[in-house]
Amino acid sequence: MEIKDRIISWAQAHQEEFFEDLKLLVSVDSSKGEATEGKPFGQGCAQALKVAQDILSKAGFASENHENYVVTTDLNDGETVLGVLAHLDIVPTGDGWSFPPLDMRQDEEKVYGRGTADDKGPALAAFYAMRAVRELGLEVKKNCRLILGADEECGSSDIRHYFSTHPVPRYTLSPDADYPVINIEKGGLHADAAAQWEKEDVLPRIARIEAGIKVNVVPATAQALILGMEKAEVERYLSSAREKTGAAFTAEDAPGGVRIACKGENAHASTPEKGVNALTALLTLLAALPLKGKGADIARGLTHIFPHGDFYGAGAGIAQEDRESGKLTIALTVLKMDEGGVRAQADCRAPLCATDENLTDVMRAKYASIGLAMDDNKMYPPHHVPKDSPLVLTLLSVYEDYTGEKGRCIAIGGGTYVHNLEGGVSFGAAFEGVNNNMHGPDEFAYKRHLLLTIMMYAQVIWELCKS
Ligand SMILES: [Zn+2]
Repeated sequence: MEIKDRIISWAQAHQEEFFEDLKLLVSVDSSKGEATEGKPFGQGCAQALKVAQDILSKAGFASENHENYVVTTDLNDGETVLGVLAHLDIVPTGDGWSFPPLDMRQDEEKVYGRGTADDKGPALAAFYAMRAVRELGLEVKKNCRLILGADEECGSSDIRHYFSTHPVPRYTLSPDADYPVINIEKGGLHADAAAQWEKEDVLPRIARIEAGIKVNVVPATAQALILGMEKAEVERYLSSAREKTGAAFTAEDAPGGVRIACKGENAHASTPEKGVNALTALLTLLAALPLKGKGADIARGLTHIFPHGDFYGAGAGIAQEDRESGKLTIALTVLKMDEGGVRAQADCRAPLCATDENLTDVMRAKYASIGLAMDDNKMYPPHHVPKDSPLVLTLLSVYEDYTGEKGRCIAIGGGTYVHNLEGGVSFGAAFEGVNNNMHGPDEFAYKRHLLLTIMMYAQVIWELCKS
């Protein structure tokens, strides 16, 4: 029998056991908790690592717990050429579930529960892939090490801790993103800027603008306080602002003026086109009002640099793209203004062709042209593994062979577990066109997709470790 057929029948024969093990992992609330002695991410994360160690040991795999940051296990005692990274921590379950999030349910097609897709299911699938290679007796001279982390959702300090004392293998893979293969994670720039001024008495003027919580989230709400205008006056501008921006506005009386609230839709800053930026929408409205003073000038200036609906840096003069990594994106995400100054933050994700000359310097000059001083930030570099590297070619061919779909490399604006690991790529485990509700209520995974992940990882491990 061909190796592929043997792998497929092994995975099929072990699916019941796989879903039983997955249920054990899902039952642990491994969202980040308070650090205690020896448990840097809290009790739940340590418990998930413990449950994983039990699963490994039941299958005859020795494992090592690295101070409750990560658990590792090895395929054999050969030289470690391949590292597979996956995580057992989860984001908090949150509300809105139509079934218990930690009591995994299954039907013919799917398993349901927090972590089934992100990332306990894929993590366990990677382990079952190692089991398949070992139990089928496939000849492998080199080692694959599985590294199960417990802090991916809150900054990946687990992996940093582990790699501060262990070498990075020649190849690293992570089933914590999308298929087919993510070989580029864009670089970027935190384009933050500020200005101060003497309080002015002109009317009408902006007394306050507030929007944004985190630099990497397109804000869903924004507020402003305007002095020297009546509610009825402001309301005359609202419908045209709504039409222009797609955001909703309300105005209400406040002492000496009007309070304006804007509601849009949030999105991750790496995909700003998926949201409606309440901050740039609010600035669009403010720019149309007959406001005076330094604050108003800056608000208007910002609408030229960050026009509402411009996700790609045209207004800032930094629009650029390349064939491999796609378009630059930028989002103005945080703004605090009062009567004495302003501070703004923008999150830019940059393609491979971006440099400090064509991005950072241009952005700094643009801010300066409206009276804002940009912080002394520089670009952070992209993560890139060439699409013709042996690792990527192996992944693509295995993907095509097992799924029958055309493989391709994709570039993303977000960062994954492998962002800082030279030569690392993400391989799965989300399939194209499937929304697994990761991080939201009713997270699920298709059983056949998890089985495919076991199979493809087994094939990949064998191919990369056989000689
Ligand atoms: Zn994840």
